This record gives sequence, structure tokens and C-alpha cells, in this order.
Amino acid sequence: MRRESPLCKRGRALAAQRGLHYETLAVEGLSRNRDLEGMCMARRKKIYEGKAKILYEGPEPGTIVQYFKDDATAFNAEKKATIEGKGVLNNRLSEFFMTGLNQIGVPTHFIRRLNMREQLVRQVEIIPLEVIVRNYAAGTMSKRLGIEEGTQLPRPIVEYCYKDDSLGDPLVTEEHIAAFGWAGQQDMDDILSLALRVNDFLSGVMMAVGIRLVDFKIEVGRVYDGDFQRLIIADEISPDSCRLWDIETGQKLDKDVFRRDLGSLTDAYTEVARRLGVMPKTSTPITKPTLIN
Ligand code: C5P
Repeated sequence: MRRESPLCKRGRALAAQRGLHYETLAVEGLSRNRDLEGMCMARRKKIYEGKAKILYEGPEPGTIVQYFKDDATAFNAEKKATIEGKGVLNNRLSEFFMTGLNQIGVPTHFIRRLNMREQLVRQVEIIPLEVIVRNYAAGTMSKRLGIEEGTQLPRPIVEYCYKDDSLGDPLVTEEHIAAFGWAGQQDMDDILSLALRVNDFLSGVMMAVGIRLVDFKIEVGRVYDGDFQRLIIADEISPDSCRLWDIETGQKLDKDVFRRDLGSLTDAYTEVARRLGVMPKTSTPITKPTLIN
């Protein structure tokens, strides 16, 4: 029989004291009780902790548990905050987008959602690139090229940044990628094709609920199936990694709300989730995310 660690015993006792169910509380991301959450997480092997997510060893070889934190960072972590409920919303929204992509034959790492903050995903070898697709000028492209934000681009433009926080994820060309061996020519063809298919899918889904997909970032990873290797979409797709503007009003419903201090990030993400049917329709304002299964 598996023995419970003293840490988990303490967690269980603490939960009982507060009239809460330990397992529920362990994953109940809206809890502010970081002590208790920390205790439960201690049961697993942490592989990596990033700015918005933690990766744990999965239950089977080749799987990973991806945990969505409430932490928000911007400008290469110069601006930081904890936004209650963000992780819960992103877990659910990323599930929604990745499931949709899997269904139309765009392969992703997503296997299934485990609970409010966690999803089971395939382990991949991450290609060290941030792949950005832009439909309208905004953000760093507007700054770099002096194009007014919101200007429609003649066609979707794909950009690559080298994934390195210490360098601030610099923009690179395919020449850099080939010369430094970050990805091969076949990989680059596959990445471009994946990025454009994700763009078509996401643009359509968002357009249907009155939201303009301005731009987004994806990450791509390599998996091995027997003797074959292929590239699949990894990481997350959420309002943290997209620019989403209301078509009618231009209201921002993405991480720019946090970057530019434009109001409540939770309200913005909740609105995206509500329109996509990920959250129940409610007449009262949502202060905390309520999930439907
Ligand atoms: O900041 P920039 O305009 O280059 O961002 C383009 C898109 O990529 C935005 O949707 C932004 O949220 C996303 N992005 C991201 N992670 C980064 C850099 C950009 O999700 N590290």
C-alpha cells in the first residue's frame, strides 16, 4: 500500500479542519491557500516551472501534467501579478482550442483535462522558437515598423523569435534558425503549415463569436512515433498568447489588459470563455470563474 507522506497528512488534516475535501482543495485553483496547494503538489516530480505554468512528470512515460498558475508576467517578467482565476480560465480555454485543433486534424500535445488547473499532455522536445502569426499590426510589430495598431496586414505574417528569456526572445530569421540548427528545412515547412492552419481555425472560431484574432503565438514540439517523428502544437493557446479584440467595439480581451492596465484581466478572459460557451451564460457579473463540464 502507498504510504502517505507527512506533508500530505498535514494537508489532509488542514483541509478537514476547514471542512474542505483535501483532493478538491488540492486542485481547486481559486483557493488562496498556497500552503495547502504546495503540500499537494509536493507529491509529484516537478520537471519545469515557467512564468505561467508548471510541468510535472505524468502518470505514464511520455506524458506530462501541465499546471496553469495564476501568475501573470509582461515585458519579460518586469511586470508581475497574481490574478485570481487566470490559470483556471486558461486551462479551460487552451483545452477548448487544442481539442478543436485535434478534431480538424491539426495535431497538438493535448490529451485531456484533469481538473480545474491541470491537463495531461504529450511530452515533446520543444523547438526553441516562438512562432507568431499576425493578421493585424499590433504590439512589437507596430513599434518596430511604425504601423498603426489595428492596421489589417495584406496577408498573415509569420515571425519567429528565439526562445530565450535572458535575451528577451529576440526576433530571428529563417537564416538564423537554419545556421544555428534550431530547426531543419522540413521542420520549418511543417511549422509554417501548422501556424497557418492554427490561424485559419482560430480566426474562424473567434470571428463566430464577434472577436477579431489580431495575432497569436504558438510553440511547436517534436514527438516520436516508432521510427517516425513529427511536429505538433505544444504549450498553450489562450488569451495569454493571443491578441483578441471585440469586432464591434475594439475592446481588448487578452493579456494587453494586464500589460497596459486596461481593467480586469479575469473579466476579459471570462468574457472570451463565455462567448465560446466554455462558461455558462449568466446575467449576473462574474467575479470568479465558474466552470461547466
Ligand atoms: O509582443 P508581440 O506583439 O510580439 O506579441 C505578438 C503575439 O505573441 C501576442 O499575441 C502576444 O501575446 C504573443 N506572445 C506570447 N509570448 C511571448 C511573446 C509574444 O504569447 N513571449
